[in-house]
Order: sequence, then structure tokens, then C-alpha cells
Amino acid sequence: MCGIFGYFGDKNASEVILQGLKRLEYRGYDSWGIAVLANQITLSKKVGAIGDLNQLAGYPKSQVGIGHTRWATTGVVSDINAHPHYSSDKGFCLAQNGIMENYQQIKNELIKKGYKFESDTDTEVIVRAIEDRLKEIRKISRSARNDNGGGDLKEAARQVFLELEGRNTIIILTRDGEIVSLRNGSPLVVGLNEKEVFFSSDTLSFAPHVKDVVVIDNGQMVYWDGKLHLVDIKSNRTLPYKSEKINFESSKIDKEGYDHFMLKEISESPYVINQVLSRDVKLDEGFIKAIKKARNIYTIGSGTAGIAASQIAFYLRLFAQVKAQSVIGADIYEYLNLLIKDDLMIAPSQSGETADVLEVLEVAGKKGVKIASYVNMPGSTMARISDFSFPALAGPEICVMSTKVFTSQIAWGYLLAKIISGKAEEGKSNLKKLSEAIDQYLNTGSNHEAIKTLAKILAKSKDIFLLGKYQNFNIVKEGMVKIIEGSYLHAHGIPAGDLKHYAITLMEKGVPVIVVVSKDAARGDMLNAVSQVKARGATVIGISPAAYSGFDYYLPVPDTGETAAIMNIIPLQLLAYYMAVELGHNVDKPRNIAKSVTVK
Ligand code: GLU
Repeated sequence: MCGIFGYFGDKNASEVILQGLKRLEYRGYDSWGIAVLANQITLSKKVGAIGDLNQLAGYPKSQVGIGHTRWATTGVVSDINAHPHYSSDKGFCLAQNGIMENYQQIKNELIKKGYKFESDTDTEVIVRAIEDRLKEIRKISRSARNDNGGGDLKEAARQVFLELEGRNTIIILTRDGEIVSLRNGSPLVVGLNEKEVFFSSDTLSFAPHVKDVVVIDNGQMVYWDGKLHLVDIKSNRTLPYKSEKINFESSKIDKEGYDHFMLKEISESPYVINQVLSRDVKLDEGFIKAIKKARNIYTIGSGTAGIAASQIAFYLRLFAQVKAQSVIGADIYEYLNLLIKDDLMIAPSQSGETADVLEVLEVAGKKGVKIASYVNMPGSTMARISDFSFPALAGPEICVMSTKVFTSQIAWGYLLAKIISGKAEEGKSNLKKLSEAIDQYLNTGSNHEAIKTLAKILAKSKDIFLLGKYQNFNIVKEGMVKIIEGSYLHAHGIPAGDLKHYAITLMEKGVPVIVVVSKDAARGDMLNAVSQVKARGATVIGISPAAYSGFDYYLPVPDTGETAAIMNIIPLQLLAYYMAVELGHNVDKPRNIAKSVTVK
């Protein structure tokens, strides 16, 4: 899930790259590195968070360089395993985003040929394989060659890249001052302005500098040698490239006075719901027809987006009588054979680059399944391969824990279901009221105080249970995900009715159980579950518009009717936030996870 960045232009490369990497840090924050070219390539890399400009003291002024922020897949987190990796003669260096699945086999072959390895990464195997191929090419073409050798390196990289298994994108800086990047699977975009070229894993990282973007597709190589070139990797044929304008209206990355991005982003929930409302529903007509025509409808996602997918399917079933089922990106194997031409797949995603989901969408697309996506990151792969693509327009979400984008995804799903059922105006008016209710909730100090107090208590717990049913089941599951991500404590979201079948054995004095009780069809069953856990001594925390007896702690929420579930996620997100703060964790970058999971 690493982030790669490359720069060529009139500014000081190391500074631009550092700023770019900071914006890519959500993709991995184990370690980082920058390489720039002056007379020779100067490279430095280290474990830890990306530093400030002071860390660039050793770098010469330069106009070209590459950088990387790592989320280790192969080899421990260490300075040596950090990217970029030098070639033996320092003629080039390389960084990778992805996993080379056949690295061991190729490494063994290279070791037999006498190559030495400093690191344990698959990345270094790519470097040595390119060196090896370069030698061969140069042997053959020595007499014929009349360029400075850069052509040979590109050819070696191209040939080796075709042999890599897995989803990989690599970026190379050469001693001749070229940047070469090859894509298969992991994202790659190029940003252009008059005097500068940016290579990156996402568009947001260079958003302040450019408006024109070239999205590189799988199987393409792009390089800059004073001009931009696009090449089909397999055939080695030059391709025309097309740049598109990307709207980065709200690309500002700033905590705006909040202690953490997470709190700022939760506080943007009313804004993201208003963004959903700003869409012209008439534009959805083709999509609505496709939904009505589809034989099977699947919603798909991973992690928090997987839970959003499940809630979107719930809304489609409940309000639109559409038989939608949700699947998890990483666990859909048995469905693949069932996909048929008249099916439709709906994918909500923050990044639009989630490898598990993309792979499924690619298979589905080949079978003629129609793809719809709701993605927050502009210029994403998922949006590009979709028949129907809806930008979430929620603005950058920097905290690795997704909050406002989840809210945006389920609000969109709710409105979609209402539009299909012919009640678009009612849906819009309900979302408007919801947005106002959330705004008021978030601006009421006592809500924060109550949640903070509870966070202090829960931070000392070993296990936290969450019960929900009907519209709130996915909400307690997402609450569970947030608590696990933020606190590193064990949490367990359970369908309230299922409790008595197994998890009741875990109920004993003082065990914290969060229940989400709306004034809906599930209220009676929820209150039964409350009595059942209370009878075994559990401490019950109620999130509800009413203070039912049995609640030991009560977090009041306004009753927003059909949109209650969307309201209810807000206190759970805040609870996870205040627990992370209470425990002294790195709130915006919880350990071990990354935001855009582009590896499998
Ligand atoms: N496989 C590379 C490494 O472990 C890149 C990892 C990634 O893209 O997440 O360093």
C-alpha cells in the first residue's frame, strides 16, 4: 500500500517530494525515503514518520527525484528495507508499490548468477533483475547503441516488469535524469503544469500544484526525458496520452484548529451529507434503469467500505424492494462463477484503489457485469473502470480511520434507494434534516463530554460488545471497527437477536455492552437483549433517542426517523476518537494499518 512520488521541475525536488510524501503518508508510514539527482543520485531513507524540511539538509538542490512511503509487505520495517533501492553501480534507483509474488524464485536465480542482496524486500529483486537484464541488452546492442543508455534501461525495466507476478507499480530515477514508471495494478497518475511533472500514487498528493492529470492504465509505462512519453508495456508501442482536468476544489489539507484530522473529519459529516444532496438526481436515470434491469445486484467493499456496502444493500432492500446482497472484497471467491452479464455491482470506496475489490470488479467487468462506484479520491482506477461513476466529493479524508466518507457512502445509499422507490424528494428532505441534526449534535459540548467520560472508562476494558439490529446492525459493526482501529482493544459487534445463541456466555459483571436502540421495528428485540445482558451483570451503554431503563450510561441522539442509522454512527466514531486520545495512540495513523489497501 505504499505511496510513490516523482518530480521533475523548476523547484527544489527534495522539498516538493517531501510535501508530496506527507500527503501520501496515509498509504503507509513504516518508513520513507527520497532520492534526487544532482551530479549523482543522492538517496536517504529511514524508519519512522515523514519528517520536516530540516530532514533534507543532506540533499543537494535538484530538479528531479523520486520518493516513497512504505507499508511493509516483504521484509521487516528497517532502514535498509525502506525504498528507494539503489542499483549496484548507483546508475538508477527504484521504489515499488505492490507485492512481487514470484520474487523468491527470481531472487534464487539471481543469487545463482552471483548477485548480492542487502535487503529482504521484493523491491530489491526487481532492481537486481533489471541490472541483470540491462547487462544482457547492452551486450547485444553495444555496437548498435547510439543513445546514452537510457533507452536500454527502459527496455530492461519493461522486460523485467512483464515477468513480475502480482499487482505492482514501480518508479525509477536514472542517473541521466529520467523518471520511468510502470504500472500494473497499483495506482499511478501523472500531474502536469507548464514547468513541472509529477508522478504519484494519487492525485491529491500534487493537487496544490496542477490541474491537468494523466491517469496511467495497467500495462502502461510512462517516462519523462524532457517530454512525457506513454508506452504499451507488452507491445512496446508508443501510445497517445490524454490529460484531463481534475477538480481539486476542496483539496486543502489542514487540521483547521482541530487536534486531529479524525475529529475534523467527523465534524465534516453535515458537509458531506450536503454534498450528497447537491447531486442532480436526474443524472442517475441511466443507473436507476440499470438497477431495475439487473438480474442480481451486489454491493462490494473492504473494511469500512465493506460495511458501507452492506448498509447500502440494506437500504436498497428496505426502501426500494431491490434484492441486493453485499459481499466482502477479499472473500467473494464462490460468487465469481455465478456472475452473469445482466448483473450489477456497486462499489463504495474511499480511495477507489482497493486491490481486493478492484480484482473482483475486473473479473466482473470481463463477464459483462455493469459496475457502479462511489469513490472519494478523484481520478481513481475504480471510477475509471465503472459504467456508472459517482464522485463522493467529501473532500480529502486524511485520518486513516474512515469516518466522513463512511457517512457519505451510506447517506448516498439511502438517497439512491429513495430515488428508486420514486421518493427522491422525501429522501432529500430527510437527509437535509439529518445533516442539521448531526450539526447540532456535534456542536453541543455536553455530547462530547459524555462520550469523553465514557471513553475513559472503556479505555480500561478488555472486551467491548456492541449490539444492534435491523438498520443499526451495520452501524454497530462499524462502531466495532472504529473502536478496534482507534483503541487496539478487542470489540465485538453482534446482531442483538443472535446474542442469546452464543455470546451470552461472555456476559458477566461489568462487561461493557453498547446498544444502539432506534424507535423502529427492532426496538422491542433490542430492549429484550438489554434485559438479557443486564440480568448477567453487564454494564449497558445506550445510544438512543430515549433513556430506556436498563441503560447504565446513556448517550442521547436525536430521532431522525428513516436516517437514524446514519445519525447513530456519529457517537460511535466520536467514542473511538476519544478512546484513541485517552490511550495516547497515534489517532490519525493507527499502528499497522494503511488507508488505501492496494495490496492483497
Ligand atoms: N513489497 C514492497 C515492500 O514490502 C512494497 C510494499 C507495498 O506496496 O505495500 O517493501
